[in-house]
Amino acid sequence: MLSIDSFSFSGHKALIRVDFNVPLNDHFEVTDSTRILAAVPTIKKVVETGGSVILMSHLGRPKGGFEDKFSLRHIVSTVEKLTGLKVKFAADCIGAVAEAAASSLLPGEVLLLENLRFYKEEEKGDADFAKKLSTLGDIYINDAFGTAHRAHASTAVIADFFPVNKMFGYVMQGEIDAIDKVMLKPNRPLTAIMGGAKVSSKISIIENVLGKVNHLIIGGGMTFTFIKAQGGKTGSSLVEDEQLQLALDLMEKAKSLGVQIHLPVDAVIADKFSNDALTKVCDVAEIPDGWMGLDIGPQTISNFSAVISASGTILWNGPMGVFEMENFAAGTRQVADAIVAATAKGAYSLVGGGDSVAAVNQFGIADKVSYVSTGGGALLEYMEGAVLPGVAAIRS
Ligand code: AMP
Repeated sequence: MLSIDSFSFSGHKALIRVDFNVPLNDHFEVTDSTRILAAVPTIKKVVETGGSVILMSHLGRPKGGFEDKFSLRHIVSTVEKLTGLKVKFAADCIGAVAEAAASSLLPGEVLLLENLRFYKEEEKGDADFAKKLSTLGDIYINDAFGTAHRAHASTAVIADFFPVNKMFGYVMQGEIDAIDKVMLKPNRPLTAIMGGAKVSSKISIIENVLGKVNHLIIGGGMTFTFIKAQGGKTGSSLVEDEQLQLALDLMEKAKSLGVQIHLPVDAVIADKFSNDALTKVCDVAEIPDGWMGLDIGPQTISNFSAVISASGTILWNGPMGVFEMENFAAGTRQVADAIVAATAKGAYSLVGGGDSVAAVNQFGIADKVSYVSTGGGALLEYMEGAVLPGVAAIRS
């Protein structure tokens, strides 16, 4: 496997699968360019070492043919602005138009191909389509971690046509290195913090991390399924009754593996699901009827912070409470602060999964943790222990 860091692209045409699936407003302007910005180091590395770049991506969910609102031409000016490079555009991703544009590309030049998903073959992982794409360049770089869990033509199948000349881009490499630091070679103790709404959506992750961690902290809505399973009173808190046995099984499994599970001991409860609800703090297993737990309480914050502070590696997925409402954000904020403090003392911290990333951004601490994953579904599948087709295709 080649490494982008040590490779000189002089004389090469690099076909880079990027994730430019960015949100556009009604005027087709990019409203959040984070994903484009993330790909800039990989693009620059190719250009600055004398290569040319052919970018391919999907955008939105077209039905399988051209639709102007999903055309990647809308983002050309943003890519130009963020890379500081002139970007050519090919109005098709395969065929004569793409081939002519790719073959006339000079060293240092950048070409963006039209939306891959204008062809149904992309998501089907069609080999002929992948082969046509592959003829456009002589090196394949996958830098689209967000789609690495899909075996699509441009994310996995195409790698078959580059037996040697294939590598990860910097985004992919960064994501893989971060998760490997946590899952394969963590400094111990390793603590996973799991939160969010429902335990049902995190079962596979919890099961997988139980085999690796020393501590598992549980917060958020999923707390109450564990509390009720142990016979606690949860009022009208979010409980998944069909998962009660599973919660007990997970606790039993943790015990047999020597993993310490830390559940909340107190909760901030509210008389309705609203920021202006009446609130009070009570024992997490003594929530009165008509009241619901919407955040972890002060004693829990202190307990969790102590575990986090003593950790060598921290994995955080999911908020501790309904952090979108100011009155129920304190638990998530203070757990985030504890992670920041542990990181400053030398711990490695990885934050991943939609809502904890949103929380970290909301609190303005993204640059104070070791790594914030943008992987979404791909990261979750990696944490579940799945082999990602996009990763396997490059490593094979
Ligand atoms: P998830 O997508 O599963 O990570 O869940 C994130 C959502 O869980 C956020 O929108 C939070 O508002 C919500 N959440 C966190 N704690 C609670 C709680 N105690 N009760 C209800 N929802 C919660």
